Amino acid sequence: MVYFENVEKRYPDGTLAVDGLNLEVESGEFVVLIGPSGCGKTTSLKMINRLEECTGGKIYVNGKDIMTLNPVKLRRQIGYVIQERGLMPHHTVAENIATVPLLLGWPKKKIDARVDELLDMAGLPKEKYKYRLPAQMSGGQQQRIGVLRALASDPEVVLMDEPFGALDPISRDNLQNELLTIHKKLKKTIIFVTHDISEALKLADRIVLMRRGKIEQIGTPDELINNP
Ligand code: ADP
Ligand code: ADP
Repeated sequence: MVYFENVEKRYPDGTLAVDGLNLEVESGEFVVLIGPSGCGKTTSLKMINRLEECTGGKIYVNGKDIMTLNPVKLRRQIGYVIQERGLMPHHTVAENIATVPLLLGWPKKKIDARVDELLDMAGLPKEKYKYRLPAQMSGGQQQRIGVLRALASDPEVVLMDEPFGALDPISRDNLQNELLTIHKKLKKTIIFVTHDISEALKLADRIVLMRRGKIEQIGTPDELINNP
């Protein structure tokens, strides 16, 4: 589903952030990228939806070389969740969730039904939350909306960059559990960045341990625990 072939990223200032990354993420797989700050996790994620361009190698999404795709269209096909500053503060929860469907020009009725369905799935009563502004919700609820927004147009691939990093431990645990339930149900391909090993062990089908822009180790949580 997402295939990195010898991918390199050198920033204009000379920093080699990703150094020959080879990785095949299968359809429906939950892959977690982990490693110390600065090892290239975020850069690897951003190259998939072309928020950063790779400077070497190739990335394929669903069999297509992403450099042959229109970057705007590509971004609408891939869900993206970041730690914070994600929601538009002057738009309601419903408008935030519907960002991509609105851009794609879905009919109003279909958008409305989709927003209701997603709020239901997250256990947020629509009567109560649909027309609130992000500032009127807790941090955990806002991150939940961020996840729902990434799922709104039913993308096959969802990228998540420390989405729960700013939350208190209880909200974080709840959202991790919800994400696992969603993943089981919807079978999305998820690539998730964290620097928290317990989060990686809990969520991942496969963990990619990065260091200095390279893969140091890769395996299932069991394999990594038994071969540290
Ligand atoms: P991580 O997500 O693992 O913390 P990043 O991908 O953010 O790592 O960064 C990898 C390396 O690239 C770091 O050395 C970082 O300082 C550098 N880097 C990230 N973004 C830029 C940028 N826009 N310009 C120059 N260097 C950058
Ligand atoms: P994270 O820790 O999640 O990787 P950061 O807070 O390090 O994110 O980076 C925030 C933003 O700043 C990112 O968009 C990243 O590309 C950019 N950035 C990170 N490191 C550098 C750097 N050395 N030079 C310029 N921009 C950077």
